[in-house]
Amino acid sequence: MGKDTCVMCGNVTPYDFETNIHLRYGYVEGMGQLCQPCYNGEKNEEFLTIPKKMIRDTPNDMDLGEKIRNIVNKS
Ligand SMILES: [Zn+2]
Repeated sequence: MGKDTCVMCGNVTPYDFETNIHLRYGYVEGMGQLCQPCYNGEKNEEFLTIPKKMIRDTPNDMDLGEKIRNIVNKS
């Protein structure tokens, strides 16, 4: 059986796809399985929250990308 991979970095996690999410460590509801370093923030990745409204109101992917990049550049 295959192992689930981390949704952030793609590394293989110790969990089978069949493993109940309640028995897993590092599973984030609505996001998926994270490997231990990602879940613990050891990789020091920063996150950005994008309002769904911005995505809905920006049908053009290029424009949306530009808006997101502007937010990142300002932070
Ligand atoms: Zn990871």
